[in-house]
Amino acid sequence: MEISFAGKRALVTGAGKGIGRATALALARCGAKVTALTRTQADLDSLVQECASITPVCVDLADWGATEAALQDVGPIDLLVNNAACANLQPFLDVTQDQFEQSFNVNVKAVLHVSQIVARGMKARRSGGSIVNVSSQASQCALRDHTVYCATKAALDMLTKVMALELGPHQIRVNSVNPTVVMTEMGRLGWSDPGKAKTMTSRIPLGRFAEVEDVVNSILFLLSDKSNMTNGVTLPVDGGFLAC
Ligand code: NDP
Repeated sequence: MEISFAGKRALVTGAGKGIGRATALALARCGAKVTALTRTQADLDSLVQECASITPVCVDLADWGATEAALQDVGPIDLLVNNAACANLQPFLDVTQDQFEQSFNVNVKAVLHVSQIVARGMKARRSGGSIVNVSSQASQCALRDHTVYCATKAALDMLTKVMALELGPHQIRVNSVNPTVVMTEMGRLGWSDPGKAKTMTSRIPLGRFAEVEDVVNSILFLLSDKSNMTNGVTLPVDGGFLAC
């Protein structure tokens, strides 16, 4: 199945590393004009070195006002990937107010805010569009030490559904991908320990973690017109973990 994004403009958040970086590069390879947003300038510098057509935006999504200012001149966007997130792992009884607020600010509030900015433009231009939120299997399955992360991703799944409901009439589709563990920087944080990793892979029918490309391919499908009638889904990319 060939996917082309020629003539489309895409915005990817959290594009400095991991899944977001790979998504930005894949979109550019498929012909999209890509804007990559993250908070570490050095990551943007190396991304632009790798793919000169990418437009970098450096901002911390936890800052509502700075995000608004940074996106002011970003121009019309047809495809949005809300990928940036943080994972602060700790036992339930140790969760602090700061950790809770930081995670909800980035993983939920910034998704709402960036999507509002982009979707207002899509609505005004009557162009339609496609938005993919990067959620997790953790939105639907309790994981030890993941209290806040699980809660943010559960909130994100419902945000996806309400956005699909309200933006659908403007021909803006909103879906999420819900991956299992991927060995990015974030994945290594929680799952480097072989014993812990084995407990997880033993619960995945395909018997392995996801590769970055597995997630990117599902994101590209949901962004593309190959999924034209798909709206409001939370698509597991988990080798069957959530099915069992
Ligand atoms: P990484 O930690 O590898 O990359 C995350 C990227 O997001 C980094 O470039 C990071 O920048 C950026 N980012 C984080 N916080 C902010 C912020 N406040 N403002 C701007 N940019 C920010 O993560 P992954 O690639 O693994 O994760 C991508 C998505 O996939 C996330 O939504 C995650 O929850 C989800 N996911 C990941 C899984 C995994 O096992 N890896 C499993 C399931 C879902 P910086 O490095 O500068 O902080």
